[in-house]
Parts: sequence; C-alpha cells; structure tokens
Amino acid sequence: MKKVIIMAAMFASISGLAQNTQCVSTTKKGDRCLLTVNANELCWRHNPEYTKKTKNPTVICSATTKVNTDCKQKTSHPSGVCYHHRPKN
Ligand SMILES: [Zn+2]
Ligand SMILES: [Zn+2]
Repeated sequence: MKKVIIMAAMFASISGLAQNTQCVSTTKKGDRCLLTVNANELCWRHNPEYTKKTKNPTVICSATTKVNTDCKQKTSHPSGVCYHHRPKN
C-alpha cells in the first residue's frame, strides 16, 4: 500500500510540470485572460502560433471515386484525403 502512495506522489510531481495554468496574457479590456494553458504558454487566443500548429485547413479530398470522378468530401485530415479514402487500420 505504501508503494502505491509513493508512486502516486511521484506521478503528481511529474505531471505537475505540465500542469494547466492560467494564460499570463490579458484581454483587450485589460482583464486577466481566463483560459487555461500549459505552464509558461499562451492560450490559443494570445499565442500567434497556436492555430498554425493544431488546426489543419479544410480541403476537398484529393482522391477519386470508384467511377473515376473527383471525391467532393471535405476533410481537415493532414493527408488531404477524406475518411472514405483513407486506409482503415
Ligand atoms: Zn490568453
Ligand atoms: Zn474522398
């Protein structure tokens, strides 16, 4: 039982490094930003690189259908192919 407590304490200290904290930036009104972020990072609103990293643009699927016409499904998957045309794992 003691071992479990030690493990839990260790896990807490490790995960504590990446604990969510409040964004350090302020809103246009001058209020403290209330969004939660990883330690020492800015939230999606205040970090100019945030959207570039995480959001994929929505594109039309680049695959063709069985009858050789362009697939018109929209997808935001990095492969640029819709879920119909991606290989299933
Ligand atoms: Zn913020
Ligand atoms: Zn497709």
